[in-house]
Amino acid sequence: MKPILPGSAIGVLGSGQLGRMFAIAARRMGYRVHTLSPDQDTPTGQVADVEVNAAYEDLDAIAKFASAVSVVTFEFENVPAATAAAAERNAPVRPAGQVLHITQHRLREKTFLARAGLPLTPFRRVASLQDLTSAARELGLPAILKTADFGYDGKGQFRIADASELAQAWRGVGERESVLEAFVDFEREISVVAARGVDGEFVHYGAIENQHRNGILNTSLAPARVTESVTRQAVEITREVLEELAVTGVLCVEFFVCRDGRLLINELAPRPHNSGHFTFDANVTSQFEQQLRSVCALPLGAVTQCSPAAMANLLGDVWAAAAAIPNVKLHLYGKMSPRPGRKMGHLTALANSVDQAHADVQRALSTLVGKA
Ligand code: AMP
Repeated sequence: MKPILPGSAIGVLGSGQLGRMFAIAARRMGYRVHTLSPDQDTPTGQVADVEVNAAYEDLDAIAKFASAVSVVTFEFENVPAATAAAAERNAPVRPAGQVLHITQHRLREKTFLARAGLPLTPFRRVASLQDLTSAARELGLPAILKTADFGYDGKGQFRIADASELAQAWRGVGERESVLEAFVDFEREISVVAARGVDGEFVHYGAIENQHRNGILNTSLAPARVTESVTRQAVEITREVLEELAVTGVLCVEFFVCRDGRLLINELAPRPHNSGHFTFDANVTSQFEQQLRSVCALPLGAVTQCSPAAMANLLGDVWAAAAAIPNVKLHLYGKMSPRPGRKMGHLTALANSVDQAHADVQRALSTLVGKA
């Protein structure tokens, strides 16, 4: 396939911090970046050459946007299928709209994984309170009810401890199509961020260890403190996912590591992932440059990690005195309106060991000023 060369324009659907870091990587390599979203003065738009302000449902605007660029990629996967199709009529879309279609809907994603024979948390489809009651009986409680679409960062999720909470949880998801998942008493959570080139080349960043708070990623440690065998299995499963979906681009697989060492897939993200932000500072090629290389049909870059790393998200209204710690890198996303729980930036600490990097990033966090 013919590479898309520097000087060309890349279109990004979505305008958040993932698009911003993609745009930084792309501009460094001499590409132009166009971004489209319903918002203005966005984290991506501040760095891009062109910021288009339009609804994802405005198919004329999408067609015009796609026809002005050499390839369309995205940083926000919850765009309607018709949006991806409108873009696809005017430019290559990588990963393809079909990948978005599957991964933006929990039921489609889980059904795809189950059909591919990949290990995942036991689940049931729920379309009524009656379904929920029988699903809870089959899977056992506690369990977690999640809306089938448009869920992220623990939004649209309800933990059900016992049968008395079923009706409340059903109201909580807005009585919409949902998935009931068995509650996994995991030992830890890990993810694998990987990229696949247009000709099937595959690279990955190993296992990353993730700690969540209130359903939102709090810290990521790389490498994860797991056995080589767990890392090998996680990478192998990730490779299968990218192959089965024929991804051109970056995809992250989030896993639960069970107490007996078994891995269960929690969910997929068909783009660079928050847990891979450390690659910006710690790796020869970041996950964002890797997305650029794959969607432009360039050879993928070396994934070599130069140092153990720990990343901590900055949530809500905090600002940083952390820039004073020499081995800690500060990233702020240029968001104008902080809200509690909103991802405003992150810190990455590089050190000789992952435990030291973890301690350093925690120390940096404790110097932050604000009301997170
Ligand atoms: P999600 O948005 O589905 O990735 O969920 C956010 C976080 O909630 C996960 O990273 C876990 O920490 C927790 N969680 C989600 N589903 C489950 C589950 N089935 N069992 C245990 N914890 C879960």
